[in-house]
Amino acid sequence: MQVVARCPKCDAGLPVSAADAPESIACGRCGHEIVLAFSDALRGDSRVDTCPVCAGRDFYVRKDFDPKVGLTVVVIGALISGIFYWFGEDLIAYGILGGAALIDLIVYGRLGDVTVCYRCHSEFRGKYQRTAPHFDLHTADVLEMEYERRIGRR
Ligand SMILES: [Zn+2]
Ligand SMILES: [Zn+2]
Repeated sequence: MQVVARCPKCDAGLPVSAADAPESIACGRCGHEIVLAFSDALRGDSRVDTCPVCAGRDFYVRKDFDPKVGLTVVVIGALISGIFYWFGEDLIAYGILGGAALIDLIVYGRLGDVTVCYRCHSEFRGKYQRTAPHFDLHTADVLEMEYERRIGRR
């Protein structure tokens, strides 16, 4: 399992491999020492049960989507269709624009799910079974506030 641990101090994302993760890592941005407590389930890539950074047990799943990639496809599609539009080929222009939107949809649909910790926003990628529910704003509000109070951000 690949984990992106979030630094509690500065929110930097630190990629670690759960299978051979050290007991603690130093944040590459602010130097803060982050203690990692990986459970056996995490190390074995079987499921996400306890967060190694904040020890929280509340997670949600979301699509593992990089918005930059989707935007690039649409922008390139718009540029190409603009050229055809300029030459009076409206139908081709609209076709390309529609095609770009379609590619976006397909890419989005094929993406895997990533599990995210409600409290510290660490991310978990791997072949493990997704058991966490989808994002809930109320839960996020409550848990984030609890966590930020604990680490002294509020
Ligand atoms: Zn940091
Ligand atoms: Zn966490």
